[in-house]
Amino acid sequence: MRLSQFHLHTSKETPAEAEIVSHKLMLKAGMIRKLAAGLYTWSPLGLRVLRKVERAVREEMNAAGAIEVLMPAVQPKELWEETGRWEKFGGQLLKMKDRKDAWYCYGPTHEEVITDFARNELSSYKQLPVNFYQIQTKFRDEIRPRFGVMRAREFLMKDSYSFHVSDEDLNREYRSMYDTYGRIFTRLGLKFRAVSADSGAIGGAVSHEFQVLAESGEDAIFFSDGSDYAANVELAEAISPGPRGAATEAMRKVDTPHQKTCEDVAALMGITLDRTVKSVAVMGTDAEGNPQFVLALVRGDHAVNEVKLGKLAGLAGYRLATEAEIAGHLGSEPGFLGPVKPAKAIRIVADRSVAAMSDFVVGANEKGFHLAGVNWGRDLPEPDEVADIRNVVEGDPSPDGKGTLQIARGIEVGHVFQLGDKYAKALKLTVLDANGKAATPVMGCYGIGVSRIVAAAIEQNFDENGIVWPEPMAPWQAVVCVINPKNDAAVAEAAQALYRDLNAAGVEAALDDRGLRPGAMFADIELIGIPHRIVVSERGLAAGTFEYRHRQASESENLDRTGVFAKFGK
Ligand code: ATP
Ligand code: MG
Repeated sequence: MRLSQFHLHTSKETPAEAEIVSHKLMLKAGMIRKLAAGLYTWSPLGLRVLRKVERAVREEMNAAGAIEVLMPAVQPKELWEETGRWEKFGGQLLKMKDRKDAWYCYGPTHEEVITDFARNELSSYKQLPVNFYQIQTKFRDEIRPRFGVMRAREFLMKDSYSFHVSDEDLNREYRSMYDTYGRIFTRLGLKFRAVSADSGAIGGAVSHEFQVLAESGEDAIFFSDGSDYAANVELAEAISPGPRGAATEAMRKVDTPHQKTCEDVAALMGITLDRTVKSVAVMGTDAEGNPQFVLALVRGDHAVNEVKLGKLAGLAGYRLATEAEIAGHLGSEPGFLGPVKPAKAIRIVADRSVAAMSDFVVGANEKGFHLAGVNWGRDLPEPDEVADIRNVVEGDPSPDGKGTLQIARGIEVGHVFQLGDKYAKALKLTVLDANGKAATPVMGCYGIGVSRIVAAAIEQNFDENGIVWPEPMAPWQAVVCVINPKNDAAVAEAAQALYRDLNAAGVEAALDDRGLRPGAMFADIELIGIPHRIVVSERGLAAGTFEYRHRQASESENLDRTGVFAKFGK
């Protein structure tokens, strides 16, 4: 590609709307342009990178035996009603009506469509196992689209769905996809980690996320320094800190006129935060389906994990209690809440570490007071329920008993799930088994955020001058820069010849023949992150050399033609 014939449109300005580096650099490099919130055009430059990611994903999926299909973006309401997700999917589902007043959605994912395809296509166990994949545009009406293509509303996903006669076979394919994902991210030159994840609303027992490690990542992931344990914050287990110590203090009331947080109470009393207990009042439902007031207790230095709490009986979709509900059950206002002598009988859920505490501090259920020296069994009954309901923190013991947990930030670029028979059942997919009987297949599903990978790669690979692409993702491997091409025919010719020869030798090279001054030209090439830069100048030509520089090197080298080709192993 001759850059004079290509649409390269970089900018020196740092765009004000961009909060993170990848978004800034993608805009400055002119890779993407915003149309509206969460909607982006990929420029010719951006598309070259996107296509590289796509190609790596496609080749590895093919090599793993998956078969490519392409499903519609627009999907009929009736199909989504069969799984109940027309209502359940929530606000991310973009719904629309056609001219006949029939409802459709723009697909945020394709479990319904693929299972519909499967129920029409698959009739015998002999057709299984099979894994269909597509690389296709999704739409999710994200509450806060941000960071450019990192969290867009319209984005490119690779999604695949596998069908099996048995759980064992699903396990085998799941392993194979897990390994394939590892190969894809390794091939793209990314530093990543696979972590155990909560399979949440999608169902199924087993799930892993693939996280590209980056400071700016939205997800917290925890890994052990003593084993290969790794999980995201929703799943990482906080184990019990061991047996409870004996009570040594008497319970006493402490004057805390203005102290409404554990931090303030601890500071006033001159104790550490881990001696205090935070009481979080929420509303769930009891066994009869009636509203139930629940007090969730975590240590003052810990935070409630909403996903973990939501997994307890009656707490799926819980909400925070209102001030009126709190006053009704505890007889107090927020800031002074606690589990000792509530005004009404309430359900108390204690985190494992709270259940192990003695001589602790809680709100007194009375404005302006806390209780210190509180002990389970003596000052209040043992908790109704002890569960892991908090976020793990760095330094917690690893749940597998080996090492302690360390924290890292990650960007989720892939997600694999075992779906079980949820969709097959809902959509009445059956095949005849070996005995000629109808059987419901089990399914797996596997997603990769193709467009998000482009941004994630930049978060991991940049410097003060711009993007530093891992070579497999770069728009071009190399660029041949012509100094002064218009005025010097010999230089222009030598550059063209080198550009032609590199491409003929299998090096993907561009020719920068835009006629820019060297400073501006080099700034652009560094901004867009081309790994190898080769400058052809009058001076070099006279000496029989080219000025070569790697994007990550601090110095240039003068190389002859053989030396240049050697840089590419040619
Ligand atoms: P997230 O937790 O980031 O919202 P998700 O769990 O909703 O992601 P999945 O349903 O597992 O995502 O989708 C598969 C992949 O698609 C994700 O791993 C992610 O890489 C990508 N993806 C999801 N939502 C977006 C988005 N709004 N913009 C870009 N990529 C996305
Ligand atoms: Mg996810």
